Amino acid sequence: MSKKEQTVKKKKDTPSGWSVALILSFMVVLFALIYLGAEYMALRQESRTEINALNAQISEKEREVSELKEQERIRQEEEKKRQEELAALEKEKEEEQQEQVVAKDPSEYKHRVYLTFDDGPSLNTQKILDILDQYDVKATFFVLGRELEAELKMLPEITKRGHSIGMHSFSHKYSDIYRSLNTFKVDYIKIRDLIYERTGVESKLYRFPGGSSNQVSNLDMQVFIDYLGEQGVTYFDWNADSGDGANGNLSITAFLMNCLEDFERKSDVVILMHDGGADNTTLQGLPVLIAALQARGDTVFLPITEDTVPIQHMKDGN
Ligand SMILES: [Zn+2]
Repeated sequence: MSKKEQTVKKKKDTPSGWSVALILSFMVVLFALIYLGAEYMALRQESRTEINALNAQISEKEREVSELKEQERIRQEEEKKRQEELAALEKEKEEEQQEQVVAKDPSEYKHRVYLTFDDGPSLNTQKILDILDQYDVKATFFVLGRELEAELKMLPEITKRGHSIGMHSFSHKYSDIYRSLNTFKVDYIKIRDLIYERTGVESKLYRFPGGSSNQVSNLDMQVFIDYLGEQGVTYFDWNADSGDGANGNLSITAFLMNCLEDFERKSDVVILMHDGGADNTTLQGLPVLIAALQARGDTVFLPITEDTVPIQHMKDGN
């Protein structure tokens, strides 16, 4: 080989050595990159798995927490319901006890007292009603026809407050009422209609002026009694007379003694009193009488009704 050829060959060899080195370097770098990439991908995958696992744990915990919360809510609701049921039971029991007190049968008392007020309504009626309310007592008012509006407006007040209302004739004039059956009828219809117009009550209770045993009637009282019977009306007399009708200056002691005469002997006591307007003995004696009888504990006050067994002088011969 000539010198010239060697030089050419040398020139040819030199670039070829560089290329190999370059290629090798490139490959090394390439492998390194591939390796690192793979490594990175593996790590990333691992992290993702871990994150997913953690997330799953978190949602599991969250689910447990909400389950506990739900259980607590249910428990609180049940507790609330239980408290409400207990309160309802307690209330029911209280009401039952109250009902038992109210529902005690009047026949269980030794004495049943019927307070009756004749000749009203008057300017005293309001005061009598207030006294009865104060002691929670129901009574019976046998009323007359009146002209004063101040008196007439007490009629609905009597029934509104739970008392019984009965007829005691319209005029209270013996000579008119007992003159004939016809005059009795005219008077009866007037008082019956007046009570109905003012109170809406069709009263079936009657008290004869002077009582059924009065000595002033021209006719046999049985005539009037039969007429009332035809109207479905019952008459009621009394078996205790307070005396407030006969004597305007009666002492309270005498009033009480009259009301309670033979009290122990009687199981049903119908007391005659008057709502006459000017009478103060009744107003003063009434609270004393009621308080004394209520203190006994064996006495109940009742209003007269259509079901009350009547005290009747004509029948009983008193
Ligand atoms: Zn009278």
